Amino acid sequence: MTEIKLYNTATRKKGVFTPLDTNDVRMYVCGPTVYDRAHIGNARPVIVFDVLYRLLREVYGIEHVKYARNFTDVDDKINATAASRKAAGAKGTLEELIQERTDETIAWYLDDMRSLGNIDPDFAPRATEFIDQMIEMNSELIGKGHAYAAEGHVLFAVDSYKNYGALSGRSVDDMIAGARVEVAPYKRNPMDFVLWKPSDAETPGWESPWGRGRPGWHIECSAMARELFGERFDIHGGGLDLAFPHHENELAQSKACCGDESFAQVWMHNEMLQVEGKKMSKSLGNFFSVRELLDQGYSGEVARFVYLSTHYRKPMDWTDKKAREAEATLRKWRALSAGIEPASRAGASVVAALADDLNTPGAIAELHKLASSGKAAELKASALLLGLLQDDMGDWADVVAVDLSAFEAKLSDVRDAAMVSKDFAEVDRLKKAFTDAGLEVRMSKQGVDLIAGSNFDPAKLEAL
Ligand SMILES: [Zn+2]
Repeated sequence: MTEIKLYNTATRKKGVFTPLDTNDVRMYVCGPTVYDRAHIGNARPVIVFDVLYRLLREVYGIEHVKYARNFTDVDDKINATAASRKAAGAKGTLEELIQERTDETIAWYLDDMRSLGNIDPDFAPRATEFIDQMIEMNSELIGKGHAYAAEGHVLFAVDSYKNYGALSGRSVDDMIAGARVEVAPYKRNPMDFVLWKPSDAETPGWESPWGRGRPGWHIECSAMARELFGERFDIHGGGLDLAFPHHENELAQSKACCGDESFAQVWMHNEMLQVEGKKMSKSLGNFFSVRELLDQGYSGEVARFVYLSTHYRKPMDWTDKKAREAEATLRKWRALSAGIEPASRAGASVVAALADDLNTPGAIAELHKLASSGKAAELKASALLLGLLQDDMGDWADVVAVDLSAFEAKLSDVRDAAMVSKDFAEVDRLKKAFTDAGLEVRMSKQGVDLIAGSNFDPAKLEAL
């Protein structure tokens, strides 16, 4: 069996991944709070952990791997969005507007993530379907002295859990100094965090031993993971921005409730995403939702390739240049593998790269080698392991029924001759013909690249 190595945030080490049960490998990844469209940074963990899911299925068998990614559908941001709709004159009660908003956002999310070539997880639990389990866990924590009720709230007592801060590597003092900690009279320690809070008549709420209220964000994941996977499971993933406080708090609650050996064995975090070298922000105008990116004409497959070309533990920069290069590569690979059945297994070198802490850029380098040696069936099987070259994702590339390499070679030869004769008329004529056919012509010392744009018309090449 292939040995997988993963970097574990909890130990700060890369080590051999040993599932608790090779017949039941379980991975939980924090999903979105559903109040708005997913932005392109939100897509990174989805793509990263989709590749890990595919690798685990490859190694342990499809039926032996289970993946859960939740929806946080109870949250103050959701309430605020619905309240502003109501204020703007939307019909219905606040509760109906909240329901409408979360249903709509979940549908968008699934649609966008499928467009990027991701497989739906085995479980997509909605927090509001697990309120009983959250109340139960809170009661257990109170019973064990790790939580306390005060003024309609339930709070986790950070002082009661000795390893608090270990996952994210912070001391409690640092956290108080650096975090925007909400100081409240009912808290024993300013770092104590909310497991349950009261709801007013307008806000969604559920009956509980502490009055009508709603769960805190962190307890949602702890309770859902426990319900779906039991007290121990293998991998917990998410973006690095969730390591503190969200994952730190999940870990503290779960281990305080169920023991030091419980909860995730391996913690994995992907680094963040920038756009054209800058942090994404609405004020810089470089803030895109996944939908906006797709609407700009980037195909989901091209976008996925760009994400995978950076290792998940490195910051990723979305650039238009990378997308164009990804597009050119994928067009070549699609042309090469068109109509060819994938090999029965992915190439060993590609699997080995992924098994080394999900080295996706290394895997892509191996795919290039398979392509340049013409191993189309193996290329296709291996690309599929990364979620690339999927049959239903290729519409964008349909215009390229033509292999452009012969045209590239021709222009390259003509240019070489012109360098000697100093007569560039034929070079210019060919370049113009290619441009007229909707191709971008890139000439460098290394050679010539022809890149098909969205207006590419292969028929115009026939005269050449
Ligand atoms: Zn979570």
